[in-house]
Amino acid sequence: MEFRLIDRIRERTAQGREDVKLGIGDDAAIVAPPAGQEVAIAIDTMVEGVHFPAGTAAADIGWKSLAVNLSDLAAMGASPAWALLALTLPAQPAEQLRQFIDDYAEGFAQLAQPHRLALIGGDTTRGALTISVAVHGFVPPGKALTRAGARAGDVVLVTGTLGDAAAGLNMLQRGARVDEGDGRAAYLIERLHRPTPRLAAGLALRGRASACIDVSDGLLADLGHICEQSGLGAEIDAELLPRSPMLMASFDELVVRDFALAGGDDYELCFTVPPSLVADVQSDLARLGCGATRIGRMVEGEGVRVRDAQGQWLEAAHRGWDHFA
Ligand code: ADP
Ligand code: MG
Repeated sequence: MEFRLIDRIRERTAQGREDVKLGIGDDAAIVAPPAGQEVAIAIDTMVEGVHFPAGTAAADIGWKSLAVNLSDLAAMGASPAWALLALTLPAQPAEQLRQFIDDYAEGFAQLAQPHRLALIGGDTTRGALTISVAVHGFVPPGKALTRAGARAGDVVLVTGTLGDAAAGLNMLQRGARVDEGDGRAAYLIERLHRPTPRLAAGLALRGRASACIDVSDGLLADLGHICEQSGLGAEIDAELLPRSPMLMASFDELVVRDFALAGGDDYELCFTVPPSLVADVQSDLARLGCGATRIGRMVEGEGVRVRDAQGQWLEAAHRGWDHFA
């Protein structure tokens, strides 16, 4: 790619890190991983029209393309260090291209900077708008949180609130204006475009959570992964799901429940802890600002079962969650 465009990305994402020996500008980056740490690596691709609506602001794409990756590191209990960025951009006039790059890099940097994450390289090609970000983070040997360690009797918790991003997407698709509903639309759409990766929570869960995953595809699907990999089932109470006041004020109760159970893109952490640690974990995560809500427990068996407010198990046929998949 044209060097001046790469320079614009480099300037806007500059981050002084001693462990980056050679950053953007050569054939490969050179980094020095800290002695005695393991390296956690993740990559996620976002395609326009699939992972974000066409017309999404470039700065929001920049933020979210990094956020979804940092969320994966958070779910592993890793702390972020470096990133690579593969940009595929449609042909467009030079001025428009520059503007996109500048805005993208600014949104990316707004999230990268507070976490001292350095963009150390990438690739740029022509084609349908597609963004791949790869991230690298550190975790002490053997301390990574995985999906596989849950035990029967462990409590299932989730950070923050669920369903906001699905509600924001629903509003966008219905053509809602951002100033609609006393700022509720703005809040929910912001939750969709600018998710907060729960990195500090992930670190606080090291050595305490028995399993952890970030909620990207919806709670049922993602808790389902913990179940599969831990060889267990889970029972959750729909009425315990944490939901924001903005979400509850914007949709009917059953729609809210479906968003919280099956809507994707929240990037909260869902994790399991032994009952004896729940109180400590909850007070630590409250102090970190995201909080953690108990929603159920791990049981012998398989799959996720959901109880309604009357204590009745919800039947798959009545759940209407498939259209979220
Ligand atoms: P090469 O042809 O050797 O792969 P490139 O021209 O693709 O080199 O890239 C030159 C330098 O710019 C490399 O250091 C590469 O990592 C970096 N780079 C290219 N595109 C991006 C991008 N979108 N974001 C960050 N760095 C990039
Ligand atoms: Mg090369």
